[in-house]
Amino acid sequence: MLHEKLSMIYDNVLRRNPGETEFHQAVREVLESIGPVLGKHPEYAESKIIERICEPERQIIFRVPWEDDRGEVHINRGFRVEFNSALGPYKGGLRFHPSVYLGIVKFLGFEQIFKNSLTGLPIGGGKGGSDFDPKGRSQREIMRFCQSFMTELYRHIGEHTDVPAGDIGVGGREVGYLFGQYKRITNRYESGVITGKGLSYGGAQVRTEATGYGCAFFVEEMLKARGTSFDGRRVVISGSGNVAVYTIEKIQQLGGVVVACSDSSGYVVDDKGIDLDLLKQVKEVERLRVDVYAERRGGGASFVPARSVWEVPCEVAMPSATQNEITGRDAELLVRGGCIAVGEGANMPTMPEGIKVFQEAGVAFGPGKAANAGGVATSALEMQQNASRDSWTFEFSERRLQEIMRDIHARCLSTADEYGMPGNYVAGANIDGFKRVADAMLALGLI
Ligand code: GLU
Repeated sequence: MLHEKLSMIYDNVLRRNPGETEFHQAVREVLESIGPVLGKHPEYAESKIIERICEPERQIIFRVPWEDDRGEVHINRGFRVEFNSALGPYKGGLRFHPSVYLGIVKFLGFEQIFKNSLTGLPIGGGKGGSDFDPKGRSQREIMRFCQSFMTELYRHIGEHTDVPAGDIGVGGREVGYLFGQYKRITNRYESGVITGKGLSYGGAQVRTEATGYGCAFFVEEMLKARGTSFDGRRVVISGSGNVAVYTIEKIQQLGGVVVACSDSSGYVVDDKGIDLDLLKQVKEVERLRVDVYAERRGGGASFVPARSVWEVPCEVAMPSATQNEITGRDAELLVRGGCIAVGEGANMPTMPEGIKVFQEAGVAFGPGKAANAGGVATSALEMQQNASRDSWTFEFSERRLQEIMRDIHARCLSTADEYGMPGNYVAGANIDGFKRVADAMLALGLI
């Protein structure tokens, strides 16, 4: 329920950004949390901080022409939304997926502002991508697309300006092609212009694992706060990309048993626990679908096509695929199946009705802004290493990541307490993330 002033702001956002439903959803969730902050801080309302935060500083939309292996020409649309630079250079990934349009990039960019703020590191918020579909494309087609994309993007980014990274459809391979083209066009070896780089050319230890590991650490903290742990717990994960794979790896190290994961074709159940080496081979090396995992794994593992993985009962759910993948009904099913904790590895995977179901049932619910902030936090560590021409060990970097996740968890809880909503991680994350950005914006004058 929205405070009257916030409801007017929200109506304005709807009017100014027609048809961008995911962006509306992301804004609404934040506005629903920050009502109590306005009571304590009238200066935010007086200076229209919220209205300013809801309006991106800059939005770039461009043509990306490229040729496939048969010589046919394709035209895609490229985006970069530079949302907020009060805390540091715009920072956020690039998503290549056919569903990408301005509304998706704006929702992701908006979330990124608060997520990045929560990390406590000096990074602003931005996001970009394209409606390009990498599925089924050859390596050379991917390279040509990335080169064409960067041929326009390069003029807008820079280590002190805007620092992209990966997201869905953009992993180490794509970051390599993007950085290569940036370097070629600008004639600058500007390592800090993009993160998620390979270890041989300026990448950071643990960046590949960071979102998944961080999410597992965050949920471990939520479980600890309730006097329990991952040990022996049955866990279900959606997705089987970068976030899912490294969430599984860390949960297994922490003693949890991950019994299911998925992709857009369906899900696999493997009651003995997912064989991670096989999953990595199938998904990361061979870039195949999860049914191949079930086929090769044999006895016990089965593939269920075209259904939601949330019908598999579990104690901990880690949605790590994409936005709006847990409906209100899915959340009810999960609660009935004995779910006690949810950690969002993806951005906004739970629909508003789902969040309500979890919170009313007393499930520990870790929103993406907090739970999956380990990825971008480690990107900021990569920027730090690039700036000092240094590289840290795996162990040191993982320790830093764990400290950051513990700190985010603690701040979400103490902020939620301070505003009278104990245990509400959504409110804690939104309020804490918002306040840091709002205070910086106030200090910087009318920006
Ligand atoms: N795409 C990731 C996210 O949603 C990582 C962004 C980054 O490392 O800049 O936070």
